[in-house]
Amino acid sequence: MKTVSIVAPVYNEEPVLTAFYQSLSAVLSPLPYQTEIIFVNDGSSDGSEERLNRIAESDRRVRALHLSRNFGHQAALCAGLDAASGDYVVTLDSDGQHPPRLIPEMIALAESGYDVVQTQRLADPTLGYFKRKTSELFYRALNRLADTPSVPGGADFRLLSRRALDALRSLPEFHRYLRGMVSWIGFRSVILPFTPEKRIAGASKYSFRKMLRLGSDAIFSFSLVPLYIGLSAGGLFLILAIVEVVYVLSIWLSGNTDSLAPGWSSLMFMLLIVAAILMFILGFIGVYIGYIFQEVKHRPVYIVRETFAKDNASASTSGKEPTP
Ligand code: UDP
Ligand code: MG
Repeated sequence: MKTVSIVAPVYNEEPVLTAFYQSLSAVLSPLPYQTEIIFVNDGSSDGSEERLNRIAESDRRVRALHLSRNFGHQAALCAGLDAASGDYVVTLDSDGQHPPRLIPEMIALAESGYDVVQTQRLADPTLGYFKRKTSELFYRALNRLADTPSVPGGADFRLLSRRALDALRSLPEFHRYLRGMVSWIGFRSVILPFTPEKRIAGASKYSFRKMLRLGSDAIFSFSLVPLYIGLSAGGLFLILAIVEVVYVLSIWLSGNTDSLAPGWSSLMFMLLIVAAILMFILGFIGVYIGYIFQEVKHRPVYIVRETFAKDNASASTSGKEPTP
């Protein structure tokens, strides 16, 4: 029998845990799969820890992982993914916004051959204007800047097959933006839209600071564009310098030199050309830093989805040893 692991990060969610666990359990119990539920307590300072331990005591499927401090949503998810042993792993928030009733459909899609079932938040009327707009702007900017596409409104509510999870875990980078990383590993994936529910209780744990950190992890881990701004600026100044030379020459040729303030031409030219040179040099440094950055992330060079041979088909996901 196949095993399904559920991973749910928890940060100060005491008032919602029991209701969330019950709705999750009601969905999982009738499934013809072995199930394990991993709660990752991300350094909660309320009664979440005791509540989780009590749930784990009453249900053998449940494990509670307590992190040593608050590491953040993405890190908590990674801790749960590392601990999961299932053939399929589903991650979802523990505040009830990601409806567990979608899980059977996600598993059915996985059984039909998808390795990644990524959910997408449909317009959420309960969401404030600010959060809706920032999310929209964020995905637009990210998809412009990054080479890895992101599903707009993609949530950390998804199913991964074992081989997709192993591939994801082979990305050893420190700054983690899971939505981008899951998109980066590839595999057959499908998008499942859903309308987010209201939080069961409590308030969002994503402070503005945490949102900013997630945003910068996403942009700076998946895009080198900011590093290359210098090159574009250098090009711009060079064009300005050329325009200035052409302008001054045209005035000289028309014999109208009186209209030029003395010293303006040479000063302006020096200013523009020096700015162009500086920007180009900054841009080249940016390119080198970009290359260094790609290297130090130690991402695998490629990921094998499966190896097929005539007499036995076996799955393998090691991308650790790149062969040129
Ligand atoms: N969370 C976490 N660590 C944090 C912040 C949030 O583990 O530092 C968990 C939180 O308990 C919830 C999920 O991540 O299960 C999503 O957080 P939240 O609901 O606050 O974000 P929102 O839905 O408002 O974007
Ligand atoms: Mg939430």
